[in-house]
Amino acid sequence: MQEPPYLRGLNEPQRQAVLTTDGPVLMLAGAGTGKTAALTARLAHLLYTRKAWPSEILAVTFTNRAAREMRERVGRLVGDAVEGMPWLGTFHAIGAKMLRRHAELVGLQSNFTILDTDDQLRLLKQLILAADIDEKRFPARSLAGLIDEWKNKGLTPGDVDAGESERYANGRGGELYAQYQARLKAVNACDFGDLLLHMLVILKTQRDVLELYQQRFRYIMVDEYQDTNSVQYLWLRLLAQERKNIACVGDDDQSIYSWRGAQVENILRFEKDFPGATVIRLEQNYRSTPHILGAAGGVIANNSGRLGKTLWTELDVGEKVRVLGVWDGPEEARRVGEEIEAAKRRGTGLDDVAILVRASHQTREFEDRFIVIGMPYRIVGGFRFYERAEIRDALAYLRIVNQPSDDLAFERIVNVPKRGLGDKALAKIHQLARATGAPLTTAAARILDTDELTPQARRSLGNLVGDIARWRDRASQLSHAELARQLLDESGYTAMLQAEKSVEAAGRLENLTELTRAMEEYDSLGAFLEHVSLVMDKDGAVQEPQVTIMTIHAAKGLEFDTVFLAGWEEGLFPSQRAIDEGGTKSLEEERRLAYVAITRARRRAVILHAANRRIYGQWTSSIPSRFVGELPGDHVDSETTMSGGESLWRANWSEHADPFADVARGTGRGPGWQRAAGQTGPSSFTTAPKRIVESQASAVSIGNKGRDDLSLGQ
Ligand code: ATP
Ligand code: MG
Repeated sequence: MQEPPYLRGLNEPQRQAVLTTDGPVLMLAGAGTGKTAALTARLAHLLYTRKAWPSEILAVTFTNRAAREMRERVGRLVGDAVEGMPWLGTFHAIGAKMLRRHAELVGLQSNFTILDTDDQLRLLKQLILAADIDEKRFPARSLAGLIDEWKNKGLTPGDVDAGESERYANGRGGELYAQYQARLKAVNACDFGDLLLHMLVILKTQRDVLELYQQRFRYIMVDEYQDTNSVQYLWLRLLAQERKNIACVGDDDQSIYSWRGAQVENILRFEKDFPGATVIRLEQNYRSTPHILGAAGGVIANNSGRLGKTLWTELDVGEKVRVLGVWDGPEEARRVGEEIEAAKRRGTGLDDVAILVRASHQTREFEDRFIVIGMPYRIVGGFRFYERAEIRDALAYLRIVNQPSDDLAFERIVNVPKRGLGDKALAKIHQLARATGAPLTTAAARILDTDELTPQARRSLGNLVGDIARWRDRASQLSHAELARQLLDESGYTAMLQAEKSVEAAGRLENLTELTRAMEEYDSLGAFLEHVSLVMDKDGAVQEPQVTIMTIHAAKGLEFDTVFLAGWEEGLFPSQRAIDEGGTKSLEEERRLAYVAITRARRRAVILHAANRRIYGQWTSSIPSRFVGELPGDHVDSETTMSGGESLWRANWSEHADPFADVARGTGRGPGWQRAAGQTGPSSFTTAPKRIVESQASAVSIGNKGRDDLSLGQ
């Protein structure tokens, strides 16, 4: 009998994952071992053999894009056997679809609106105001973050106890959460968290609905299981309880969303939740060369409490991972640009090149450079730097200073941060502007002489008009970057973000710092603003091959021929926040990010670190990331464009020197590279000679490798 198309080329454990359709299955394997590929084939198999109709399979992916790809691949594999798969998507997409059918059970109508973050914040602000809480001290964004956290944990307002409630406005968190939910219901809306939480409540309380879905979903599968949060986990457990045909795939080393409530423990306790689960380990990596795997393996080996995993590959050994030390950020961008041009000449398509960054503000330097050299690029999973809300706000302030008649800019900032100049006041300014043919800033100054505005609005507007005039005066005396800094402070914009204390707000502040840093490279405010309009104008260009720039978080599950990993410096990666928090938890998550980053590369990985970054107009020297120090010397080539640059960081890491990472080449098993798991030290490696690479700074690594490795199912 001819083998069905979806089995062709699969290895033995992958086949097992595909063919073990009944009962719980956990596929636990490292990056690039074909987990997603096997899950896709499994889906094809279920449809091809008619074990289930498309509507009887629940398949969860981490991104919409992954869902789309899976749908296309299954379509190609089994062709017409499949007519759409209604329940293939992200948790949120699936949650929304279910909730529309049962909305009335939680007091909503089926045509409920899904609020975006802005709407959500506006609503929360109203409630905070009505509750007489000082929004400056207890920002709406903090409350939004907290509510989101509760929803991710599966907690309804009734489940929020006094201790939790204490986390906002002296114990009023729970009360506001309840009001928020009531308000949402009243306007027939829900937020993202509700898509899952409402459905969880329904499944928990409505037996008939639970049974309906337990019957319907003959098969459940979940990709990236290590990044499910509590509410998603509870959902799956309820839905799978009856038939127990649930297949989850994941990699504990790639759990990178704990800051959004993901719990890697979910994968660790799978066998407890589903006794008798078949645990399948995939060990052959089909994505990356031995050197790339060796580098990634050497870094992640520094984490404790990992599940044991072995990886090997048959691919050619390929190039070593290159570690490139450069002088500063602009040089980093320049070098990457040159490298990409060289790769292009060698035949690499631009679509096959990615630049991965730890923090989204890092994209700016590359964007600026790529505009100059005409390198096409796209930013995935986020806005281009100059399109972000906070950057646009800051630019609007600068545009007003530069060009008083810029009405759009004036409209944008007139009430940001909030200064009591609402739509009514703005309408009156508009009216006067139209009547007198003057720009809005002029009309705003003139309206102060009338009694058109309320006293409070007049006062606020007076302050703003005065501020703008003052900034304009100063423009001739100060550097424009300094002017921007003062302007952001004096307008209250910086304070507004500082008061938020959320992760997002911290990111926005970093972006603003990055903006002023960027300004320093231009001679005048006018020249800078012109540059920005050119960058913005790139939008809507015809589709051509493009380099992808994105955060490591957004790159999960993807792969590229060539990957540049930028900004591997202490304080940037690992982030300062992770360092400041102390302890190992945050640092280990950063290290998992490093592992995800390196393992995106198929053939070529280049890691960069700069010796200097400009922060607040000051040159700060930076130390290469500890993760650079953890790269096993056998798998890396280091070069630096500076003289003496390496000695600085070699001095920093040399006390940890243990060049013999737990990476051994060709240890008998398979022709490629292998990292043995669950072993305790160098002595357990038999074939690799103990080679001390003295001349290479990158040969050093830290810690006792593999020390606490646990092995699942042993
Ligand atoms: P990640 O952990 O990064 O999500 P993964 O385990 O999901 O990785 P896949 O993305 O499924 O890995 O596969 C990695 C690469 O290997 C893909 O290019 C895929 O097409 C290829 N691949 C998977 N299985 C095989 C196989 N049996 N033979 C050849 N290539 C394979
Ligand atoms: Mg995958």
